[in-house]
Amino acid sequence: MVEAMLASVAAAASFAAYAVRGKSSSLIAPSVWQGDRSKRAVALTFDDGPSESTPALLELLARFDMRATFFMCGANVRRLPIIARQVAEAGHEIGNHTDTHPALYFKSPGFIEQEIVRAQESIAQATGVAPRLFRAPYGVRWPGLRAAQQRHALTGVMWTAIGRDWKLTAPQVADIVLKGARNGAIVCLHDGRALTPTPDIRATLDAVRIIVPALRDQGFTFETVSRIL
Ligand SMILES: [Zn+2]
Repeated sequence: MVEAMLASVAAAASFAAYAVRGKSSSLIAPSVWQGDRSKRAVALTFDDGPSESTPALLELLARFDMRATFFMCGANVRRLPIIARQVAEAGHEIGNHTDTHPALYFKSPGFIEQEIVRAQESIAQATGVAPRLFRAPYGVRWPGLRAAQQRHALTGVMWTAIGRDWKLTAPQVADIVLKGARNGAIVCLHDGRALTPTPDIRATLDAVRIIVPALRDQGFTFETVSRIL
């Protein structure tokens, strides 16, 4: 009896964890985590920018002649509006990654709305583009997010593979991404580290230098998230 109760409590807890953070869960707010499986294409996405380190990534992507998707934080856009604009002008897609990068656990619908609307306005002001995509910080969806996404016509985007580039070395990041690559994969990397100024993104840059040629050798092209869905 007690065992059965504990088992059902554990099951409920793991179900709740899946609902909130599972990459394929749309129970709390709808999101996509994988693009069109019929296209030999991958979408690289970069979160937490813009940062002082973003221009180095822009240069690299330009050299590879490829487009990516950048999920920006509103506070970073207000700190670095010119870099935000450079990202848009280079033809990359821009998504909303909240204003100040909070985990949305236990946050009120009003708080969630403010985080989204402030980022949406700051991004539009700096780049001239209102995002159509949203990625929740830490992948955490919480009640209130569904309605906020609807109000702002935002599609939630999770990932097929996440490189953990904030803590791993470039070869380790590249290994995760190359193993996770498949048709329509959405890959999560970072050109910032939450709101930290001048973040060290060398692991990210070096991983991109490995990932792009390796996937091209396998016949993949690189697309923005909207084009891969
Ligand atoms: Zn983030």
